[in-house]
This record gives sequence, C-alpha cells and structure tokens, in this order.
Amino acid sequence: MKIAIFGAGVAGLSAALELADRGYDVEIYEKRKILGGKVSVWKDGDGDSVESGLHIVFGGYEQLQTYLDRVGAGGNYLWKEHSLIYAEPEGKQSFFKKANLPSPWAEVVGGLQADFLTMWDKISLIKGLYPALAGNEEYFRSQDHMSYSEWHRLHGVSEHSLQKLWRAIALAMNFIEPNVISARPMLTIFKYFGTDYAATKFAFFRENPGNSMIEPMRRYIQSKGGRIFIDARLSRFDLKEDGTIKQAILSDGHAIEADAYISALPVHSVKKIVPKEWLRHDYFANLFQFTGSPVANCQLWFDKKITDTDNLMFSRGTVFATFADVSITCPDDFQVGMGTATGGSVLSLVLAPAHHLMDMPNDVITDLVMKDIHDRFPKSRKARLLKSTIVKIPQSVYKAVPEVDRFRPDQISPVDNFYLAGDYTYQRYLASMEGAALSGRHAAEKLHARNSK
Ligand SMILES: Cc1cc2nc3c(=O)[nH]c(=O)nc-3n(C[C@H](O)[C@H](O)[C@H](O)COP(=O)(O)OP(=O)(O)OC[C@H]3O[C@@H](n4cnc5c(N)ncnc54)[C@H](O)[C@@H]3O)c2cc1C
Repeated sequence: MKIAIFGAGVAGLSAALELADRGYDVEIYEKRKILGGKVSVWKDGDGDSVESGLHIVFGGYEQLQTYLDRVGAGGNYLWKEHSLIYAEPEGKQSFFKKANLPSPWAEVVGGLQADFLTMWDKISLIKGLYPALAGNEEYFRSQDHMSYSEWHRLHGVSEHSLQKLWRAIALAMNFIEPNVISARPMLTIFKYFGTDYAATKFAFFRENPGNSMIEPMRRYIQSKGGRIFIDARLSRFDLKEDGTIKQAILSDGHAIEADAYISALPVHSVKKIVPKEWLRHDYFANLFQFTGSPVANCQLWFDKKITDTDNLMFSRGTVFATFADVSITCPDDFQVGMGTATGGSVLSLVLAPAHHLMDMPNDVITDLVMKDIHDRFPKSRKARLLKSTIVKIPQSVYKAVPEVDRFRPDQISPVDNFYLAGDYTYQRYLASMEGAALSGRHAAEKLHARNSK
C-alpha cells in the first residue's frame, strides 16, 4: 500500500518510520525546505545553528527514546544532573533536587530540602497535591473544567509555591500561565513525574535536535525506501462521491494518489485543508476548538562564559521561562570555531508567555532579554554580545486550556482513508516530542489494523 504523509515534524516522521518498517510504500510531503517542524534547526549565513526552540528529552519519553535507538541515534543525547535549577537575581540559583529514593519519597524529601520554598509551602504542597499523586485518569479528566491556579487555591496549596514553582512548570510545558492552563495536564504531570523517579531527568541533544534526531530519522526512512519531498505544501483534498479522498493536491497543482493519507500537520494547518463536506462530523468540526500558543526562542552568543551550569534552567519574573547555555549542554555544537562561537556562552532561551512579543521588533525583544540576563548573570555585564537571533512561532503547540482536552481527536478519522497524527491528537502526553512520536505510532498502528482486516 502507498501511504502519503503530510508534514515532516516528529509526528510525520514517526508515522513514516513505523509504516516503512511494516513494508508500506511511504511518501512524505513537507511544505518547508527543512524537516523537523517545531524541532527544526537550520544554519544561518554565519554557519550558526538556529533552533526553532530549545528542546529537552525527558526520562519519561519512552517512545521517542525507542525511535532514537531504532534510527541509530540512541547515543545522540546526554543526561544531566537530576534537578530543577532556578536562576535567581544576582547570579544566585535555587534547586529542587530529587532525593536518591524511590518515588514519591524522592520528590517529597527533595521538596522538603528545596531552599526556595518556605516550610508552609512544603507542608501545603504535600497536603494539597496528594489528590494528584493518588488520582487516576478519570479524576484528572474531571478537573479539566478549571485552571490550574483555581485547582491549586481550592486545595489550599500556598500562593508562593504557585508563583515560584508551578508557574515556571506551566510556562515550560505549554507556554501559558497557570491561571490559563487547565488543571488536567498539570495534575497528570504531577502524578506521572511524582511517581516515576526517572521521568523527570533531562537530556540535551549532543549537537542540536535537527542533526541529532531529525537527520537520523530522515536517513532511516529513506534507507527503508521512503521518499521525502520538500517545498511540497498540501493545499486540498479532492473527494470521491463517498467522501473519502480521491487525491491530494499540492499548492503547485501536483496531484498525489495514495491508498491512505495521514495529516501530520499542526492543528491550525489541518483546519485549512479539511474539506467542508467533512465538517458534519464532530470529529473534524471539533478541530476548530484548538488555538495555538505563541512562543519565541532567542539565542545569544557572548564572547565570555557567563555561567557554568550544564543543565536546563528555569526563571520567573523574566521574559524567558526556560533556557540553557548550549555551549555547555551540547558539546558537539556551539563550540569555538563553529559559526560565531568564540568559546563564550551561547544561550538558547524560550520566551513565554509570548503573545505580547509577536509584533515587537527583534531588537526590542533582545534588549528586554539582555536586561533580564544582566540581572540573573552578573558576569554578562562584562561580556560582549556577539550576536542574537529570535524565532517567533505565533501558533506553536495547542493551548491546553480548560475544556479542550475532550476535543483531542483519535488518530483514526471517520473518513476511511484518512488519519491524523500530531502532538494535539489523543495520546497520554501533552503536546511534546513524545506526544508527537506517540501520535505517529498510533496513526500507523491504526492504519495497519484497519487495512489488515
Ligand atoms: C520553542 C519550543 C520549545 C519546545 N520545547 C520542547 C521540549 O523541550 N520538549 C518537548 O518534548 N517538546 C518541546 N516542544 C514541543 C514540540 O516541539 C512539539 O510538540 C512537536 O515537535 C510537534 O511535532 P508535530 O510533528 O506534531 O508538529 P510540527 O512540528 O508542527 O510538524 C508539522 C509539520 O507540518 C508541516 N506543514 C504544515 N502545513 C503543511 C502543509 N500544508 N503541507 C505540508 N506540510 C505542512 C510543517 O512545516 C511542519 O514541518 C517545544 C516547542 C517549541 C515551539
């Protein structure tokens, strides 16, 4: 069977490699010149790697790690020390280190030792978060009607811990504030991360997500006979009388016929190509319930090292929510002699919330970021900024706001020869690389099962 997949992000590539492994004839059509979608990385005119966003692999990402092993990239990422590091003013740092104990004791003892939480924060956290640790999927689903801040306050957990600890987590997970994000994904994450010791470990790609992950996936798919077309934007589907797809039409007019079609487009792009005849199905009409979270990624090249932290860092009260010095975390990129790098720090910073930044000129954003960097890293005041880049994504991952989870579609659609993959489709993770990988696998498995009957 010939399968046409649209979109070469992690979801599309995962579906392709699953299907290619099962002997399907796979074709991928990607609208951009580079693969990877939100994980894509490109070289600019100076030879610097510019990332769509700083990307971390979590210990709990079983599917993604399985794929990385399968494509020969299992050694392409490095685990860092198991702790949450908060950058504080004047170069100080505070830590939440997991104790070397089985979960949930690792988290409870780690929490009790955290220096940035007061005793009341700690007591209220243990008492208040118990329903999350003890809860099941049904309970989490039942809490989807309220924001995380509402849930937090309802359970008597301290306001200080909300602002200090959970705000950073909400911004890192979905680029939105705790009073905007639904309680459901936050509680799922507490449960999951609070009961599985290894799930919260962070790893960085040795080079960058493009070369360390997307390239090996591309090579693997092509080695299995898969064909990948770039500059190939899906424009619409022509339908047969029964409403199934007759052919897909690209924006250059090229027609593609296949036995089945998988959209691995982000949800805001899927909405543009869904034929209006399909909107009588709730399955497709519900896609219009999703909106994307705006986010931006800023990279800064300095002539000196301004930190020696080899890990992800969180920050509150700054334009950036999470960041890292990739000249330290990624030993195979951003090093002396590579593009602009002269051996100084190269920071990659995720700017969130970012709705107010979308229309702001890049130099103004850079000034705001630099002001906060000077505040957090005193050494930066004596360092020279050699270069900065900003990538804005007005609609990145879907906003996990209250009451939207129930609209996440299954990968198998009511149209016989059409499937959805993508981080927003239903799987146990929020929008993430792991969620995208799982969605690709589910789409491939469901397609295979339907066609093996
Ligand atoms: C700044 C940032 C930081 C992040 N950090 C992390 C992290 O640390 N860890 C983590 O797990 N996740 C992180 N994520 C989330 C993660 O990147 C995404 O959840 C995941 O990559 C989404 O993959 P996807 O394949 O579902 O969608 P996408 O990556 O959006 O891929 C969709 C593809 O479809 C293509 N496309 C769109 N329209 C068309 C069309 N009409 N025809 C053909 N092709 C089309 C796009 O060009 C794109 O290549 C981050 C995201 C951002 C933006």
